[in-house]
Amino acid sequence: MMRVLIADDSSAIRAAVREYLHWLHIEASEATNGQDCLDMAAKSDYAAILLDWNMPVISGIECLRALRSDPAYDPTAIIMITTEDDFARISVALDAGANEYIIKPFDKLILRLKLEAAGVAIPA
Ligand SMILES: [Mg+2]
Repeated sequence: MMRVLIADDSSAIRAAVREYLHWLHIEASEATNGQDCLDMAAKSDYAAILLDWNMPVISGIECLRALRSDPAYDPTAIIMITTEDDFARISVALDAGANEYIIKPFDKLILRLKLEAAGVAIPA
């Protein structure tokens, strides 16, 4: 089963995204901060990593830069999750190697579109 890693310090967001991913027949793993995300990414293969910007320990953008500095993650789609008032950050995230971005709030249809736009083949 395809697996996607959700890195967000909000348990409510993680729970919602996990539900959306299950609807897409994708298994969800959860990280609660950027360090947790890097540790988990090093141990398993994920088709995509969904990265919240504002997280404790290591922020989403720092986590993105760390992942993109390692060619091992070249095949991994990375999607940044921002809030509407973070709009100016989107170009920063794309410059740092994010494949796509999602603006909160979002729903399962937007998540599917963004995963596809990031090159993730959604299971039938
Ligand atoms: Mg957050």
